[in-house]
Amino acid sequence: MFMIGRGERVVQVGPAETHHCPRCEEDKDFIPQLRYSYGQFDLLFGFVYDKRYQLACSQCQHGWKLETNVMEQALGRVPIPFHLRYGLFVAIACAAALVWAAHAYRHPG
Ligand SMILES: [Zn+2]
Repeated sequence: MFMIGRGERVVQVGPAETHHCPRCEEDKDFIPQLRYSYGQFDLLFGFVYDKRYQLACSQCQHGWKLETNVMEQALGRVPIPFHLRYGLFVAIACAAALVWAAHAYRHPG
């Protein structure tokens, strides 16, 4: 069955840091996290959009946006599942392979 879905995920990407939260008006644990939205076809092929790193207060979620380049360099990897990061690419590659196979089948030699 062909299914299309979408969702949002939040992944913690490091240890909590203590900062003063202007909204809670006291020192709180701030969690460095990656938040992203994704679309998904058939639970196999997907794509990520609206990706951002942030440092968010564990109490009220108030926080700061973090620089994507700096974060990904520090992490050394992007904590997004492979099928979501490259799913669209895989889908296109599969479609191209099918077209090529059909072409080769119809024109042998
Ligand atoms: Zn707070």
